[in-house]
Amino acid sequence: MKKAGFSEKPQNSSSGAGDDIPVALRDTPDTGSKLRVQPLVLVIGGLTGFVLLSVISGFLFFVTAPKKTTDSLPSTGSVPAPTNSPSIDSNTILGHLAYGEAPESELVPITADGRIKMRQAAAQKFQAMVQAARSAGVILAPISGFRSVKDQEQLFFGVGAQRNQTPAQRAALSAPPGHSEHHTGYAVDIGDGTVPATNLQANFENTKAYQWLQANAARFSFEMSFPKGNTQGVSYEPWHWRFVGDSNSLETFYKARNLKPTNTTN
Ligand SMILES: [Zn+2]
Repeated sequence: MKKAGFSEKPQNSSSGAGDDIPVALRDTPDTGSKLRVQPLVLVIGGLTGFVLLSVISGFLFFVTAPKKTTDSLPSTGSVPAPTNSPSIDSNTILGHLAYGEAPESELVPITADGRIKMRQAAAQKFQAMVQAARSAGVILAPISGFRSVKDQEQLFFGVGAQRNQTPAQRAALSAPPGHSEHHTGYAVDIGDGTVPATNLQANFENTKAYQWLQANAARFSFEMSFPKGNTQGVSYEPWHWRFVGDSNSLETFYKARNLKPTNTTN
């Protein structure tokens, strides 16, 4: 909203609009008269004319569009601002988006032994979800919650080396450090307590836990991060769920998503 990208408009009073058009139009014939001299000039003149026409039409659109005139920052309407693209690339590694680490003070345990933690709002909902599942005869077993960037380094480089995986191969299974949703404290890997052999396996999707999650997780503001065919190109992870039930978590995940050049709705 606050991007002031358009510098052509000194004020937003509509009286300026009438002046700009004739000036711009006068420029076009000027270049036109010179362009008979050389073919190169012709090309340049043509391009200049095209640019001028674009500016004029854009400006006319802006002037005639009857919205957002109360604010003195009308520039947002006319500039589509596709300037996000460079920052996407710099924030993405092998398909994984960058995430900051949750502050230590906001983390609370979700297991009795205190080993697995999540951010407070997520932890509360997760525990409520575990209870609800249990009363339906389903055991949701947390496997992994918050992870520091250091933890992720070991997972990515250490385990990758153990398994003789290149970074690209590793990235299909695990996020590079600084790029895991687990850093946020909102993500949790969930297993089925009655079938631990399916932990972190694609066949977790055949468990009662997964079926229960599919039917009920949204009620607790959890969603699957990497469904089949996700546009991030991350492999299918039916066990990996994230909390999207408050504005901070929503911004954490959806702002990042909207930065992607491809359409992410699915
Ligand atoms: Zn995970």
